[in-house]
Amino acid sequence: MSVKFIKKPVASAGTLDKVKQLWSGVRSMVSGVNFAETTHLKPFKFGKQLTNSARSTFLSCQQKYQYSYVYGLAPRKPSIPFLVGGLFHNELDIMYSSGALDVDAMKERVAKACEAACRFPGMRAEDSDQIWMQQAVVCGMVKGYHQLYLKKDLAAYQILETEGSFEAELADGWSYHGKKDMVVLRKKDRKLFLMEHKTAGRIDAGYVAKLPMDNQILGYGWAQRSKTGRKFDGVVYNVTKKPQIRQRQTESLREFMKRVEDDYYLNPGTYFYRETLMFSDADLDRFGRELKKFVRHIDEAQRDNDFLQNAGHCTAMGTCPFMKLCLEGVTKETLLHYRVKSRAHEELPEAPTPD
Ligand code: SF4
Repeated sequence: MSVKFIKKPVASAGTLDKVKQLWSGVRSMVSGVNFAETTHLKPFKFGKQLTNSARSTFLSCQQKYQYSYVYGLAPRKPSIPFLVGGLFHNELDIMYSSGALDVDAMKERVAKACEAACRFPGMRAEDSDQIWMQQAVVCGMVKGYHQLYLKKDLAAYQILETEGSFEAELADGWSYHGKKDMVVLRKKDRKLFLMEHKTAGRIDAGYVAKLPMDNQILGYGWAQRSKTGRKFDGVVYNVTKKPQIRQRQTESLREFMKRVEDDYYLNPGTYFYRETLMFSDADLDRFGRELKKFVRHIDEAQRDNDFLQNAGHCTAMGTCPFMKLCLEGVTKETLLHYRVKSRAHEELPEAPTPD
């Protein structure tokens, strides 16, 4: 098994590069839209790349996997969780890489990204309002996070890598891909940690209880150990809760933004959760074994062109974006609600090259 890690050294990652990456991510969501038509619903050229997202999609509903990764369909409207998560990660990346938070520059970047998302064809006024509201959410989250963690993290850890991509070979021509938020070295004992950031609608006992089974993190740990022979000594897992407060009818966006930021600042315990997790070699072994079996199941479904529908998942995490296709059929009309993705895994860098 060979594993290639594509490192993005912290020191050389200039702000300009970060902005370019941000724009590239937003552009891939909102431009170059190819509207699918019935006759054009044909397998998407995607290769045998597996990500955690594709893996969990196949697990939750094979039909959803087929729409998303075999035909390469995605809803036309930008996904708000995807937009918020991407902007939040991008700002943390810039903040840790530069060692500081430039609030004005952050607001400008986030505003530009929201503006670009609002230009999406067919966007209604209420959709644009929803997107603009995310400016307050992202800036509030980043400012709150900065106040709570940045100074003490920079004192405790040496940042080795941010947003580093990796790929690991699997069986039967498949490879496993992902992007780690940060790899850090704890200064006091030189122990190696993965630092991950998540955003969540809520943080309750159930959410916390299942963190040790987070397969995304296990995948990063498994790939790291495969490449270097050294596993992470731990994973610093950060969860940031999205705000529950909503913009009041009489409130301007500026006022709302201030209220969100104040809430994060005054109530950090409500919004931020951090835990250090350890994964054993046995955990990583199990993950690696499962991954190999997993791709065989996908190959089987593709060979038979038989992707099962799991109706139990349709509303499990909000309404499935492909509900229209499942309920009304794949027609010229229903396909107008979707675009063809620019590549299978738009969340990953376009063409990573090994160092
Ligand atoms: S609507 Fe339900 S059955 Fe259809 S793809 Fe989505 S989760 Fe699967």
